Amino acid sequence: MDSQLHAMTYTERAAPIDSENPLESMMKRFDVAAEILGLDRGVYEYLKTPVKQVIVSIPIQMDDGRIQVFEGYRVIHNDVMGPSKGGIRYSPDVNLDEVKALAAWMTWKCAVVNIPFGGAKGGVRCDPAKLTRIEIEKITRRYTANMMEVFGPNKDVPAPDMNTNEQTMAWIMDTYRMHLRRTENAVVTGKPLILGGSLGRREATGRGVMVNTLCALDKLKMGVTGARVAVQGFGNVGSVSAQLLEKQGGTIVAISDVSGGYYNKNGIDIGDAIAHAEKNRTLTGWKGGDPISQDELLTCECDVLVPAAKEDQITPKVAKRIHARVIVEGANGPTVASADPILQSSGIMVVPDILANAGGVTVSYFEWVQDRVGYFWSEQRVNRRLERMMRTSFEAVHETAVKHNVTLRIGAYILAIDKVAKTLQTRGIYA
Ligand code: NAD
Repeated sequence: MDSQLHAMTYTERAAPIDSENPLESMMKRFDVAAEILGLDRGVYEYLKTPVKQVIVSIPIQMDDGRIQVFEGYRVIHNDVMGPSKGGIRYSPDVNLDEVKALAAWMTWKCAVVNIPFGGAKGGVRCDPAKLTRIEIEKITRRYTANMMEVFGPNKDVPAPDMNTNEQTMAWIMDTYRMHLRRTENAVVTGKPLILGGSLGRREATGRGVMVNTLCALDKLKMGVTGARVAVQGFGNVGSVSAQLLEKQGGTIVAISDVSGGYYNKNGIDIGDAIAHAEKNRTLTGWKGGDPISQDELLTCECDVLVPAAKEDQITPKVAKRIHARVIVEGANGPTVASADPILQSSGIMVVPDILANAGGVTVSYFEWVQDRVGYFWSEQRVNRRLERMMRTSFEAVHETAVKHNVTLRIGAYILAIDKVAKTLQTRGIYA
C-alpha cells in the first residue's frame, strides 16, 4: 500500500510550540521531516522507539567502607546502520528519558555524516564532584562489567560525554578486555592516544565547525577573509572553532565563556585568550576585549555566530535581534524550535547541530576504523578525511534542503530519517 496512505499528522504529536526543552525541540523537527517525507506510520513508530534500554545497578564500596548503589543506563536507539555509537555521561540528574532522547539524536547525527553507526547513549546517575577518583573508577568498571553483553566493537561503542573523559574510556576498555581475555581497543572511542586514540580527535568538533562555516559562507558568496565571527563558549568546541576560523582569515570579534563575554572589533588574539583560559581555567580577568554580556555576544554585529556553549541559547527573543548572516551550531540544541521560523524569515542560514558538530563523531569513527585495522593515520590524513566528509555532508544536506524547499535543519533531518528508513525497509523486519 502507498506509504502516503499510512502517513499520519506527526505535528499533532509534537511538543508544544513554546517548548524550551532541547530534546523536545529535536523531536519536533523530526516530526516535521517525517511528515514531509510521508513516512510510513509503522516505520515512524519504529524510528521513535529505542531498540534496547538497559538499566543496571552499580554497587560500590566507597572510600569510607560504606556500600552505595548507583543506577546506570544504556539506550540503543537504533542499530540498522551499524553498531550503535554514543557517549556516556555522569550526572546527578541523568535519567532514562534523557538518555533515550540523546540516543535518538546520535542516530540522526551519524546518518547525516554517513558513517556506519546507529545511535546510543549511556549514563550513570552520580555526582562526580562528590566522588573520589577511586570511586569513579570503581563505578566505571562495575558499570562496564554489567554492560558486557551490550558493549562491543560490532555492537555498541561508547565515547565520552558530560563528566567523562579519556581516562573513563581507558577504564572501560581495560575492564572490557579483562573480561574478554583479549585486546579489544575498538570497544570505545575518545581514548588516550597511547591506548589507541586517534590524532586529531580533540580538535575534530571545532574543525568540523570551521569546515561547515566555510561551506555556508561559500553558499552565500561571502569569503571568510575578514568575516566577523562571534563565538559563545570557549571550551573544547568554542576555542578550537575560534582558533581555526582565525587561521582561515576570519576576524573573531567576540568570545565568551561562563565568566562573561569579550568584544574587540579589531579582532581578538585567540592564541592569547586560549593561553589565559588554560592558565586561569576561565577567561576571567582577560584584558584582550571589552566586557559584554552573553546576550550582547549573541546579538552583536557579526557575519558568523557560533553558539558552542550549551543548549537553549537562541530563544525567539534573542533570534529577533541576531545580526549574523550564518549561525553554525557547535553546541547541541543551542536554538529552541520556536526560534527557527524567526531565523528563517530573517534570512539567516543555520547550519544545524546534527551537521555542524558532527566532526567529533566522525573522527570517533576514524578511531574505531584505525583500532580495528591496527594501523594508525597521520594527523594530516585524519584532518583531510574529516574535511572531505564534512564537505560532502554539507552538500548533501544543502541539496536536500533545496529539493524540499526547507531549511538546512529540516533538510538534515529529512536526509537522516530517509537514510535510516530506507536501510530498515531494505533489510526488512526480522521474524
Ligand atoms: P566544554 O565544557 O569544553 O566547554 C563549554 C564552554 O561553555 C566553557 O567555556 C564554559 O565556560 C562555557 N559556558 C558554560 N555556560 C556558559 C554560558 N551560559 N554562556 C557562555 N559560555 C558558557 O564543552 P565542549 O566539549 O566545548 O561542548 C560545548 C557544546 O558542544 C556542548 O553543547 C556539547 O554537547 C557540544 N558538543 C561537543 C562535542 C565535543 O567533541 N566536545 C561534540 C559535539 C557537540
